[in-house]
Amino acid sequence: MPRYEYRCRTCGDTFELSRPMAESAAPASCPAGHDDTVKLLSAVAVGGTAGASAPAPGAGGGGGSCCGGGCCG
Ligand SMILES: [Zn+2]
Repeated sequence: MPRYEYRCRTCGDTFELSRPMAESAAPASCPAGHDDTVKLLSAVAVGGTAGASAPAPGAGGGGGSCCGGGCCG
């Protein structure tokens, strides 16, 4: 479940809530019970940072010396 960050305009406190995406725009009460809160646009990372795939140099796939001279076609 995604987490959303809110800030209370009454006491200035920031807090996070885990709620369904459909309720992300629903009013949220701060831990102190205030209703005057705003949702912050925080970049919440779901998952890890691994998985970035960059093409390895020299791993084939274009740039070879064979294809281009007409030997492959
Ligand atoms: Zn508050």
